[in-house]
Amino acid sequence: MSVFKHPEFQDHEQVVFVNDQSTGLRAIIAVHDTRLGPAVGGCRMFPYNSDDEALTDVLRLSRGMTFKSALAGLPFGGGKSVIMGDPRHEKTPAMMAAMGAAVDRLGGAYVIAEDSGTSPLDMRQASTRTPYVKGLEDNDHGGDPSPHTAQGVFLGIKAAIKTVYKTTDLEGIRVAIQGLGHVGYHLAGLLSKAGVSVMGCDIHAPNVRRAEQHFGLIPIACDEIMTADCDVLAPCALGATLNAQSIPNLRAKIVAGAANNQLASAEDGERLHAQGVVYCPDFAVNAGGVIEIHHQGLQSTKAVRDTAINGVGEVVLEILERSQQSGISTQRVAIELAEERLRIAHAPAHALQNSA
Ligand code: NAD
Repeated sequence: MSVFKHPEFQDHEQVVFVNDQSTGLRAIIAVHDTRLGPAVGGCRMFPYNSDDEALTDVLRLSRGMTFKSALAGLPFGGGKSVIMGDPRHEKTPAMMAAMGAAVDRLGGAYVIAEDSGTSPLDMRQASTRTPYVKGLEDNDHGGDPSPHTAQGVFLGIKAAIKTVYKTTDLEGIRVAIQGLGHVGYHLAGLLSKAGVSVMGCDIHAPNVRRAEQHFGLIPIACDEIMTADCDVLAPCALGATLNAQSIPNLRAKIVAGAANNQLASAEDGERLHAQGVVYCPDFAVNAGGVIEIHHQGLQSTKAVRDTAINGVGEVVLEILERSQQSGISTQRVAIELAEERLRIAHAPAHALQNSA
């Protein structure tokens, strides 16, 4: 397994392999970029099939965090960590504390937060060994950022509807949600309140029933979600669902969802563009959670938090408009916009004066 030559390495600042024999912890911490601030990113626990699979995942996720925080205007860099193992059977408080100790050894370059497979409670365990933890402060949801992620996705969908259908009215729009877990559930609620016809699926049947009972969601089979007859497809489950096989069969005009790394490869962004599908880049549209985590730390008022999350819709609109004007795919536009912000934030004052 090569790290420096890995196709997803993309100039990471640090990649740390963690092994703690006493607790069975095996993890990778990836710090992609700290130009804007400490690399804040969630810790995902997943039963990866191989070390290589875990490495690929953490490298892609951590670079995505750099773009996400830059686009959201946060003083954070990009990083992520993964723990190899089944969160339901293998996770222990001691393991999470050992993860905290590993984070601490990086001296603040990486700041850990919850992600899929970990919880605010796990972050409390990590915080027994390090101060470099985010998302411990209580919000209305016990520290859970997912309702705010859902709010950002909702605003991203509204921006895309405005761009494609030239309307701000969501009444009668059809949205198909893949994955009705933390984010998907809240998204279904926001959409149905706005008059959207919401359909969705989840491999975990109780999650479907919950959304059906609470919001009148129309259930749909998991193997039919990618070809659902809808205006918007909202991937809120897993990555790499947009690929060479699925894209030609999409019927949705818009794709906007919370899942990280929705594109299986960079070419898939071009493929969507060529097919006329308006793709809202995941790292732009799912920033609500990290924005909330930032404001939890600042103890901002609700009004300040709401304004910050509204920024997600504005960023998505800017990306879609730039893409329409330039003919460049939304994915490339979003990366260029994030890199522009990174350059400006880091440029010495005299360079900015000269370029003005
Ligand atoms: P979650 O684990 O609560 O929900 C995911 C749901 O998807 C689960 O209910 C699971 O059963 C379902 N699922 C898994 N495979 C599926 C499949 N093949 N078909 C249909 N359903 C499937 O996770 P979450 O917190 O809701 O996050 C969803 C996605 O959004 C993840 O990719 C996560 O990394 C990303 N994300 C989440 C947040 C957040 O605030 N929670 C922030 C940014 C990004």
